[in-house]
Formats: sequence, structure tokens, C-alpha cells
Amino acid sequence: MKKRNTDTALYCLGGLGEVGKNSYCIEHENTIILIDAGVKFAGDDSLPGIDYVIPDYTYLKENNDKLKGLFITHGHEDHIGGITFLMQILNLEVIYAPKLAASLIRKKLNEKKMSNVKIVEFDNSSEFKIDKIKVSFFRQTHSIPDAYGIVFTTPNGTIVTTGDFKFDLTPVGDMSEIQKMAMIGKKGVDLLLSDSTNSEVSGFTMSEADVSESINDIFRNTKHRLIIATFASNVFRVQQIVEAAQRFHRKVIVFGRSMENIINVARESGIIKVRDDLFVNPNVGLTLPLEQVLILCTGSQGEPLAALSRIANGSHKFIKIIPNDTVVFSSSPIPGNALSINHIVNKLAKSGAKVITNSVLNSIHTSGHASQGEQKLMLQLMTPKYFFPVHGEYRMLKAHAKTAEQVGIPLDHSFILSNGDVLILRKHEVFAQGRVQSDDIYVDGNDVSGLSTKVIRDRVHLANNGLVAILVAINPATNKLLSKPQIISRGFVYMKENQDLINETQVLAEKTMKNILKTDPNFKIIKESLKNSIGPFLYHKTHRNPIIIPLIIAKTTNTKEKENAKPNA
Ligand SMILES: [Zn+2]
Ligand SMILES: [Zn+2]
Repeated sequence: MKKRNTDTALYCLGGLGEVGKNSYCIEHENTIILIDAGVKFAGDDSLPGIDYVIPDYTYLKENNDKLKGLFITHGHEDHIGGITFLMQILNLEVIYAPKLAASLIRKKLNEKKMSNVKIVEFDNSSEFKIDKIKVSFFRQTHSIPDAYGIVFTTPNGTIVTTGDFKFDLTPVGDMSEIQKMAMIGKKGVDLLLSDSTNSEVSGFTMSEADVSESINDIFRNTKHRLIIATFASNVFRVQQIVEAAQRFHRKVIVFGRSMENIINVARESGIIKVRDDLFVNPNVGLTLPLEQVLILCTGSQGEPLAALSRIANGSHKFIKIIPNDTVVFSSSPIPGNALSINHIVNKLAKSGAKVITNSVLNSIHTSGHASQGEQKLMLQLMTPKYFFPVHGEYRMLKAHAKTAEQVGIPLDHSFILSNGDVLILRKHEVFAQGRVQSDDIYVDGNDVSGLSTKVIRDRVHLANNGLVAILVAINPATNKLLSKPQIISRGFVYMKENQDLINETQVLAEKTMKNILKTDPNFKIIKESLKNSIGPFLYHKTHRNPIIIPLIIAKTTNTKEKENAKPNA
């Protein structure tokens, strides 16, 4: 990294070009502050032995003496899931975290028998001075309580990170501190980092209060057994469902470890306030009259081994679907999961259940992230001089910069960067310069000590799942496909016996290419799109995850494109 000693640097080890493993660093002289230490789930997060992805912490390890603390914005896994891995690699002395996140972190550390870190809880009135950097906080609304934005006042200017947020005027938990944000903006923000998750969604994200009403309606109108699947990470949703169960005199059976965990922590923290006898174990619960039972479970994304999939397949240890059951998906599909969710919905319906999924006709789910309208509001409150969209895939970051342009931040004052790129803050001016080491590091979820490199993971993966190469020839000048994509597989399926599957894959690859080529994509985006469409498709068909290797051949090649055309798994 080329920078002057007096500069303040900012770089992301994770969180750019992806939703996951958020880890941002601010460095000034002999001080590095890490903001969040998240994990990303590799593919399907419920398969046994599935891997996590964490950032490459090498730079932090090499500069361990400078690392003065980790600040956590909120307790979601994409912000705290990397902590136990980070602590295996380097020495972390102190974590600053809001109350609920602190409880969740303590639970994690206890499970791994790690205790050599001090946890300091903060709230919206806390202030810290870490060497020359002043740190203060403002409250945000998100899908989990205790979510914060953080203000870092450095000798070169003020950096604000929004954390994950939405603006909800009728939130289930605390309101976000809009006036405080306006004050921070008035004092002057040089660089704003903001949540880009929903930056392609226009308007405003629906209020959680609307969801609350819909959930109450469902409880009121359901006369038989009720099964609700949602994300365990959506603590406000879980809270509302559990409290509605108490209100409508249903006992709650909980399926799914992550759901049990979050309910325990949220009850200990006083966020979910219900009677102890509300929760019953399955053996007791299943002897109760059907109209007195709520089953709350994981698996709203169609994860094959989660409770809901097993219920739908008839392979669940305790329950089978019976006619007149009502199954509610209080969630919306994460892109890529739509097929497997659809599969489950069909199975449930075949068994006689009434299935309610999120649609324009009801309000059983809303996002915890700001849409464009709220992103504009945030930008108007903060009025930053420079803008750094984070927490999103490339196209989301780009859309967010466009939104910022609409409220007066010129595109050349917005930075769309990759993990590892360094921003320099020098006397209230910001520019991009240099890189620190960054990569995806794959972790075998079953092996606490085992940090495996990408190569090792790929080898194992290859042995178990084989590989599928997709060969596409394009003319980059016209963005046209030059021939049908070719599918080559090794160790995945016998091509002769699976000609239909190969043909369908070819058709899907062609369709994907045609769609993506309309957007004038770079090679990285083409490769991602092919992986994102072919991977889930093959998994759905075969329940195997071969390594997908897109090979792009550009007909009118120059040196740069030749470089890009190398396969990159
Ligand atoms: Zn979050
Ligand atoms: Zn997040």
C-alpha cells in the first residue's frame, strides 16, 4: 500500500461484490480498527460439512500490533460469523458490540471454548477514543434489534458507516435516530459507507408493522395446525410470531437449531417476552389439539436438510403434513433458491396443506434493508462529500452509486471497488490507491482448526462432485454469442446416459448468456451469471454441486481479454 504516514486508509477485506463476510478496516498511523467480521455461507448453508467463506486475514495478521479493536454493527452472521475464525489466526484484544450482538458473540465463543477477548458493550450514547480516532454511534432500524451506524472521526476527516439499515416509521423495535443522523451530516461527513443490499429496489421497504398485521390475521383465521417458516436471523419476525402464538393460545414447537438459539438469546436479552410454558417439546406438542399448535421452523429457503424440507419430504422425525395444515413462508426467496422453494411448496400442497407464500396479495414478509427511497434519505441526511457503496454484489453497488448521483453526489465521487482496494482519506479528500491482500478463504465447517485453502477445498469438491465446464464463444464487440454453449463434464455424470440433462444445461446456458449479454457485462459478470444459473440448476437436478468452470472465448481478442479468458473456477 502506497500512502503517506499521515493518511487515513480504508479498505474492505470482505463485503464488496458479495452479500456476506463484511469486514472493513480503517487504518491511521499505528492504528487499525476493524468494522465487523462476517462470514459468508458457501452455497447451501444447511448441507452437512458445508464450508464457510471468510476473508483473507493475512494483512491483519501481518499488522497484528496495529489492530486496536473490532467494532460490530449488529449481530447477523455476515457481520459476526467470522470472529471465531479471526481469533484463531491472530490476536484480538477487544470487541466493541451492541448488547444483542455481544450476547450472540459470547455464545459463539463459549461453544468454541474461546475466552481470551474482552467484549465492551456500547449503545447510542457511547464514545470511544482509539488512539487518534474518535468513535461514536447512532441507532438504526434493521431486522434484528441493536443495529448501529458508526461515526469515525479521524485526523483526515469523518468516515460514517451506516451498517445494515432501513427506515421504518412504525418499526417493531427502536426507531432509527434520524435527527442524530442529520446532525452528523451537518457537522460534515467526508466518506459514507452504506448498505447496498436493496439498491435495485425502487421506493420504500414495507414496514414491519404491516407484516405484524398479516401475521395476526393468519393466526386469527387459521382453524387447524399452523406451521411458519422464517429466517432465524430475522429476530423481529421471530418475536412477532412467537408473541402472536401466545396471544392466540397456541403452544410453540421449535424446529431448527439456529431458531432455538436465537429464541434463547432473545428471551435472555428480554427482546422476546413470553411465558416459559409457551414452548413445548415435540412429544408433548403433538398430543395437543391441532388448533392449539404452532410449529416454528427453519428452511424457508428450501434448504434440503432444514426442518421444513424434511417435513415436506415426509422424512421429519416428528411430524408429517396432514390435510388442512397451513404452512406460511414468512420470507422471500434469496435469488437462486426459487426452484428448491417451489419444489417444497408443491410437495406440501400435494400432501393437502394450504401454503401461503409472500406475494403482492399479502404482507407476510418485508426486507430489513433500505430500498432506493430510503437510501436517498440516508444520503440526504448525511450529505457526504464522497460515497462508498458497500454490502452488495457489483450490480447493487453500481445501482447505489446511481441513486447517489440522483441526490447530487457525482459519479466520480462514488467508489465502486473490490475487496482489498484501498481508499486514501487525506485532508478531507478521498481517492483510491493501492491494494492489500484479499481473497476468499474456505473453511471446513466441521473442522474448527482447519483453515483450508481454496485449492484444497476445490480438490475435495472435485473428487465428490466433479466439474462441469461451459464453453461460450462471444464477439465482445457486438456482445453476441457466436455458437451454442458447449457443456463438458468430468466426474459429474456420464454424459452418454445423461444427454437430456446436458441438453437442458446447454439451453439454460444459452438463455443466461443471451440475457446477460444485453447488459454489456465484463467477463467476471458473465462467469458469475453462468455459475449462478447453472450451479443451482444442476444441484436441483442431481443434488450434487459440481465445480462450474465458465470458459469464455472472445473472437476478436486483445491482450486483456485473452488474460480474462483463462478459466477461473
Ligand atoms: Zn444484517
Ligand atoms: Zn448484513
